[in-house]
Amino acid sequence: MKVAVMGAAGRMGGAVIRVLAETEGLDLVAAIDRSGEGDAGLRSGVGALGVDFDADVRAVDGADVVIDFSLPDAAEALFVQCAESRTPVVTGTTNLGDRAEAALQTLQALTPVVQAPNFSQGVTLLFDLAARAAELAGPAFDAEIVEMHHRHKVDAPSGTAKRLAEVVAEAKALGDDPFVHGRSGHTGARTDGEVGVMTLRGGDVVGEHTLLLASAGERLELTHRATDRTIFARGAVRAARWVVSQPPGRYDMRDVMGLRA
Ligand code: NAD
Repeated sequence: MKVAVMGAAGRMGGAVIRVLAETEGLDLVAAIDRSGEGDAGLRSGVGALGVDFDADVRAVDGADVVIDFSLPDAAEALFVQCAESRTPVVTGTTNLGDRAEAALQTLQALTPVVQAPNFSQGVTLLFDLAARAAELAGPAFDAEIVEMHHRHKVDAPSGTAKRLAEVVAEAKALGDDPFVHGRSGHTGARTDGEVGVMTLRGGDVVGEHTLLLASAGERLELTHRATDRTIFARGAVRAARWVVSQPPGRYDMRDVMGLRA
């Protein structure tokens, strides 16, 4: 299978290229990035692969599937290109925004797409456990979410924290936007209908997410800690193998892992 990587010179792009290099039957055919130079394999630490970085998104043509970990503008250009070439896409870029989201809607009508804010198996399980815990705990428990990532992350809260918050809000039937992002000054007491979603940034933390369910006299915490971003790359590569044989549509890691009820 011929695989193109978008954002190939980034932290995640490099991790994907390393996983591809150790996986039978998957070949890197394009490494797209505006900031990479020379052989993408050398930069990723797997030795020369004979594929140079290319800034032009049209380099995806000829690939069977594209794996994208980039930025919203880059992802948007990729989605437009892949709609034209009908190339299946696995995308992990977070906080896409309206324009890239619209391009993704167009793309998924034409070709299969896996989109996940987090490609790890553990977080995919966390979403399921969080929904169940929030629903069973009921209104007696206040739900709050805390996430922490490395100091280089440019968007907040993380896509995973947002998804976790949506899962909890849905399970507790709190409406579309009960989220509070930070508290400071005289905020008044916490209301029953809100879910705090708090962001910490620092050091080299790969990604940590905690759902707290707090009641009088007790607190339940569900935490996922990623210590190696290879888990996201492995999940994305697994999704790439899976997506090429699906009909057009948007899928997530629960579909890939066969967890969909
Ligand atoms: P990064 O900054 O290390 O890499 C992004 C790369 O994209 C850079 O090399 C940059 O040059 C390239 N890029 C940006 N705009 C471009 C453009 N217009 N054309 C070509 N290349 C362009 O970031 P990262 O840590 O690798 O994260 C990338 C994205 O993946 C972020 O949105 C992050 O939140 C997300 N992420 C998702 C998961 C997941 O499991 N879904 C896991 C980790 C990170």
